[in-house]
Amino acid sequence: MDPKDNDLKWSRYDFSKIPFDDIVSLGQRTLLYRDLFNVSWLLGRYCNYNCSYCWPYARSDQKDHRPLEVLISTMDKIKSQARENGFNSFHFSFSGGEPTVHPGFLDLLEYYSQDEMQPHYQSTHMTTNLSRHLDWFEKYVGATKNLHRVSITASWHREMAQKEAFRDKILFLQENDVHVTINMVMVPGMFEDYYQEALFFHEAGINVTLKPQSDPSASRVVDGYTDEQLDRLHNGMPQRNYTKFRLLEKKKKASRPAPPESFMLPQIEIEGDGDIQQNMQVELVDSKGKIWYMDQAERFNAFNFNQFIGWYCRAGFQGIVIREPGGEVKRSYSCHDAPLGTIEEGFSIFDRPMPCVTPSCVSSVDSKIPKSIKPLEK
Ligand code: SF4
Repeated sequence: MDPKDNDLKWSRYDFSKIPFDDIVSLGQRTLLYRDLFNVSWLLGRYCNYNCSYCWPYARSDQKDHRPLEVLISTMDKIKSQARENGFNSFHFSFSGGEPTVHPGFLDLLEYYSQDEMQPHYQSTHMTTNLSRHLDWFEKYVGATKNLHRVSITASWHREMAQKEAFRDKILFLQENDVHVTINMVMVPGMFEDYYQEALFFHEAGINVTLKPQSDPSASRVVDGYTDEQLDRLHNGMPQRNYTKFRLLEKKKKASRPAPPESFMLPQIEIEGDGDIQQNMQVELVDSKGKIWYMDQAERFNAFNFNQFIGWYCRAGFQGIVIREPGGEVKRSYSCHDAPLGTIEEGFSIFDRPMPCVTPSCVSSVDSKIPKSIKPLEK
């Protein structure tokens, strides 16, 4: 028996067997099977941390937040246009800078969760440095309690944060039915140091996303990884349902509204999967029609699988991104297409899937959006 077999650190499903050269369509399963519209919203560049390695364009010391009323009316406009295209379920994902320091953020989430137009399903996600105190996260749990699913990507910044406190906030969130994964960029020269930190969190029952470092064009993984390190990037630390496990362990019941029956995703059986099941968010189809799975689109870059020029893509039709400063509304982050508009001057979402014109689709926000070599139905 392979020693990896009983080890939660390793995927029981070998992602390296996926025939990436022969894949003809793919997408995040929630976007494939549901009438779900996806919004990734970069709320501002202001960040309360100042890490030495942060890109200058990614952060600012200036508070650059738009007023809550503008955010609310933008959310309304997005939902209205998406509904005209037949979508009545929503996923709003927030990032920054640091989204939790936006003074209207919790009110925006509260507003989002009280949609009177009866959406079929609503979820939210944020990427945060997790620096806010526990009482802020208590309010966050309250503001999002009526949503069907809540998830967080917690960016681990070793220069600024303290490991035990970071872990404890995540355990609190899991106990309140929030799904969390920690983001770690595994720089080759620091790989083993970072891996030890990843193990600390993994052993506490927390998902860790091991991300490869990409070259400056963000299209290929940098050189310098050993084969064994690449193996860990390809199949290590698969995303598992630790939140369900934590609720069971604490004898707590999930109290979120249940999605409608028709929203249940087709079950995936992974042979030998243990009590803490692997989550498979992404489905890929090869030219013979065989379906393959991946835990999350973040892993695509570890296989240099990010080129879809000429494919038909639902970015701009089933999902948009909003980026500050400037309030630009775009198909998605990587896309070279002209913007769809701005928050101030208005924007128009596509009325159908459009071909990809961009050489590299590098962010997982972009690559998870359904796409296919053949034209896609509306
Ligand atoms: S770059 Fe944009 S259009 Fe091209 S596949 Fe990615 S998200 Fe779709």
